[in-house]
Amino acid sequence: MIIIMQKNAKDAEIAHVEKILSNQGIHSERLIGEKQTVVGIIGASHGLDISTFSSMAGVQEVIRVTSPVRLASRLTHPEDTVITFSDGTSIGGSSPSVVIAGPCAVESEDQLRRTAELVRKNGVRFLRGGAFKPRTSPYSFQGLGFDGLELLKKVSEEFGLFIVTEVMEPAHAPRIAEFADIVQVGARNMQNFPLLRQLGSINKPVLLKRGPASTIEEWLLAAEYILSGGNDQVILCERGIRTYETTLRYTLDLSAVPLIKELSHLPIIVDPSHGTGRREIVAPMSRAALAAGADGVIVEVHPDPLRALSDGVQALTFEMFEEMMSELVRIGDAINRPVLLEAFTKPKSVKAPIRTAS
Ligand code: PEP
Ligand code: MN
Repeated sequence: MIIIMQKNAKDAEIAHVEKILSNQGIHSERLIGEKQTVVGIIGASHGLDISTFSSMAGVQEVIRVTSPVRLASRLTHPEDTVITFSDGTSIGGSSPSVVIAGPCAVESEDQLRRTAELVRKNGVRFLRGGAFKPRTSPYSFQGLGFDGLELLKKVSEEFGLFIVTEVMEPAHAPRIAEFADIVQVGARNMQNFPLLRQLGSINKPVLLKRGPASTIEEWLLAAEYILSGGNDQVILCERGIRTYETTLRYTLDLSAVPLIKELSHLPIIVDPSHGTGRREIVAPMSRAALAAGADGVIVEVHPDPLRALSDGVQALTFEMFEEMMSELVRIGDAINRPVLLEAFTKPKSVKAPIRTAS
């Protein structure tokens, strides 16, 4: 149940609503928006009488929410969540759309530096790269682990880039969060509930990929685990789902973009690299993602895709990446939402992002 307070509701009226709830043993959360405050009830609200609350001073409307999605829902949080980083760069709301780019996995210092240089030269601020890789086969390259994180730190500081990297184990979360500016939860871990709970207690944005077989509601409920743990910085990432179509690696569900925008206030970005599994299809789907209203795209790019230790078939070559960037700029112009591009002048030190603004 959510209780929407009137625009001019007094603090005492809001506090009174919260007190009546807590007297009944119900835990609530106050969500202060730009225009209105909403009191959201966390957990079960069966047995609560709507009319008790709708007639209270300062209350505009009481809605019984049938969907189990609460904190991630636009009903409880009408304004877009905007994630803001130390230098003012932001993701979500009406911020410019962002590009996150880099190799699937950190393989070597040379590979990472060459990619970071390309990415930065093209105005991109976010470098992706897995140090802990969720591989289908236990015999495939599993990533460089903490050595890979050290390389990400070194190279990202050199080029003034923010780091996006994956966490797989709950116990690693606090340490990875020290390196990462955005902590990625891979598709296979979308329902790793202990991991999600752990990420609820870190002060870093979490990029939550959609599980390959998950519904929109399951995905939002996974986000709910992180949000209800106290971390309000969640970015959703559509990365393709499994359907009967097997020509491509997955079926990229771009309809998820406008749908998520309707259902949730959380930013959503699209990963056409894993979503399609073919480098030739990455740029067209990136263009489509921005045109559909995504807050950004995350793509894989590699200096030598044929020799990549993971996901080489879907990695863009440097030439393809540069071409894609110029196309995305044109899409940004067409939809009146520019792509974030920042010229690289001197190395910047990357600091921890500040908390979400809304
Ligand atoms: C990745 O980003 O390299 C990755 C493994 O992605 P996903 O979890 O979407 O498969
Ligand atoms: Mn990959």
